[in-house]
Amino acid sequence: MKKDVRFGPAGRPIGYKSKTEQVCDYINEIGLNAFEYQATYGVRISKQSALKLKANSEKNNVLVSMHAPYYINLCSQKDETIKKSIERLVQSAKAADWLDAYRIVFHTGFYTKYSKDEAMKRCKGAIEELLEKCESTGIKNYTFAPETTGKKSQVGSLNELIDICQSFDNFVPTVDFAHMHARSGGSIKSKEDYTKIFDKIEAELGLSVLHSHFTKIEYTDKGERKHHVLADENFGPPLTPLLELISENGFNVTMICETPLLDIDAREMKKEYEKIQ
Ligand SMILES: [Zn+2]
Repeated sequence: MKKDVRFGPAGRPIGYKSKTEQVCDYINEIGLNAFEYQATYGVRISKQSALKLKANSEKNNVLVSMHAPYYINLCSQKDETIKKSIERLVQSAKAADWLDAYRIVFHTGFYTKYSKDEAMKRCKGAIEELLEKCESTGIKNYTFAPETTGKKSQVGSLNELIDICQSFDNFVPTVDFAHMHARSGGSIKSKEDYTKIFDKIEAELGLSVLHSHFTKIEYTDKGERKHHVLADENFGPPLTPLLELISENGFNVTMICETPLLDIDAREMKKEYEKIQ
């Protein structure tokens, strides 16, 4: 298979002021080839705009993913919150279908008073309902991609996501390396540490394409605290060993840059990758 390693920003590039519909012209122009459309505060894109953005991404060979609204909790103590979270994900799937977004990234939820097992049970119940709704709404093309989360209070360790993705069709994980680093108190230091992550995913899920997020991250004992720019050497995880591993193994990976410098750092990441080819 042809190697396909892509880089792009999480949301609108810095300095891009025109219409979102044409954003992929800009992304292509600055040498990037992925874009994560962000519906942070709700899915507001119209079908017409979504179709225009899709056409623009195809013209520019930019791979589009979508980040669902932040306010989602599939294992809330309140049934009403779960219901609303499912609605938001159904709306996201509908928009992702229009956009031809290959992943719908989202954060699964918070444990709150529940044990990890109880929280997972609630999440799985909600996901069953979600998939039924997507089916009955007639949405055809969608892949939900729950993200490894950065706080210990959040559902979303790699093991939990693997469990979810093994339990349902149309589910694959988004690996946020910085979140995994923050959640584990800084465990990612070397190529071997990255290798373990890829080996586990390969053994448990056998993915052909991995969707991922990357940033430098500051953390406390509760997990993630703040995202930092790529050049900040005070914070991990390290980028170079990850890129070396991807290159040496010919993995197909899309890396969405979530540093405060978005597209600017996405270009730095791509430059670094090209340097080691
Ligand atoms: Zn992320």
